[in-house]
Amino acid sequence: MTQYVFQKITPPTRGEVIQLQEGRVVPPERPIVPFIEGDGIGPDIMRAARLVLDEAVRLAYGGRREIVWFEVYASRKAQELLGELLPADTLRVLQTYRVGLKGPFTTMAGPRGYRSLVAQIRQQLDLYACIRPIRYFRGVPAPVRHPEKVDMVVFRENTEDVYAGLEWGAGSEEARRLREWLREVLGVEVRADAGLGLKLISAYGSRRLVRAALRYAVERGRRSVTLVHKGNIMKYTEGAFREWGYEVAREEFGGQVVTEAEVGEVYGGSVPAGKVVLKDRLADNMFQQVLLRPEEYDVLATPNLNGDYLSDALAAQVGGLGMAPGANVGDRAAIFEATHGSAPKYAGLDKVNPTSLILSGVMMLEWLGWVEAGGLVVRGLEATFEERYVTYDLARQMVGATEVRTSQFAERVVRNMGG
Ligand code: NAD
Repeated sequence: MTQYVFQKITPPTRGEVIQLQEGRVVPPERPIVPFIEGDGIGPDIMRAARLVLDEAVRLAYGGRREIVWFEVYASRKAQELLGELLPADTLRVLQTYRVGLKGPFTTMAGPRGYRSLVAQIRQQLDLYACIRPIRYFRGVPAPVRHPEKVDMVVFRENTEDVYAGLEWGAGSEEARRLREWLREVLGVEVRADAGLGLKLISAYGSRRLVRAALRYAVERGRRSVTLVHKGNIMKYTEGAFREWGYEVAREEFGGQVVTEAEVGEVYGGSVPAGKVVLKDRLADNMFQQVLLRPEEYDVLATPNLNGDYLSDALAAQVGGLGMAPGANVGDRAAIFEATHGSAPKYAGLDKVNPTSLILSGVMMLEWLGWVEAGGLVVRGLEATFEERYVTYDLARQMVGATEVRTSQFAERVVRNMGG
């Protein structure tokens, strides 16, 4: 077994590195999985998530498979133990082992131009797809009448768009010079008191995101992929995203994907068996569609900003804003993380809901191809919500609920998996 050497931390002596073959994850029976506890409530929910995931793997594979955990440090704990917020070791470990389970970070104030720790990790590992599945768990209080109709997976582009960090404040020297250049070279007038930002959407970035969404839909037998864009207004960025999306489908998924137009024109209105339908919708319309006709949508692929708004809106629709899972995935690595923050006022109280991190762990199991273990966790969660055996955030909205601690919730999920 190859032993990797890091400066200040020692990897486990058991377990193996996840390999890639032709871009595919090839997990060993005992993969080493680095985890970052995170700040605030991070340690509480990480403990709960690891318990549930370990038990699911043990139950599903009877000891043949096992996650070998490897703690690495970032944010407060890294500062305390190693004297820096994001040690080089941590990035190297995540790169080497290709996977990570991450708790939330408390955002630290940084100098001008400082990028958040999460942004640095995403950038270093080129985790270009932010994936957020949104489904309803029976018993969970939700604000709409039929939350059970929502079963979608948002693929949000994670590296480009107005989130690339290219912006300059009103009155800054950079903004002044850019304004001058715009006037002189392009003949465009911009108000002197405007802040300026760039919206970047490339063929490369769009194509790989849509490719990931299409591959996911094909491999998991999902019904459709919808490109969500605002191309009627922003033709060369959002509109181009749409065009590039259709291009990838045509060039690389010809046998597996049909467009919505083809379903009407070529197949008489019915989708041929086993094919994924590719659609597109304007972003503003999409916000109505997910409320009015959620059953018609399945996988959504969209640029960064649309995806940010849409994934939160959808999570709220199923009552799960605080318990929606997330993953940041690239071609060489993936980090699975709770989508909420570190809720500092509940730190160390064993009080909050660990479901977001547990479900992010389910995504990790699925990414490893360990679907049986992932299925067990979902079954355990479903049963626990139906019993109304829940943490304070859900208990206060449910009639007849038993309010329990983070650790008690996790133990009950394990019991409800059959453990
Ligand atoms: P937050 O998500 O941490 O908490 C807001 C409120 O939501 C909490 O007070 C609590 O009432 C509730 N909540 C959150 N998670 C919960 C859980 N698991 N169970 C039950 N209730 C839960 O948002 P915030 O207070 O705005 O941010 C706190 C810190 O987290 C900030 O520093 C913020 O920047 C950071 N943050 C980090 C991430 C990340 O690391 N991915 C994401 C969002 C916010």
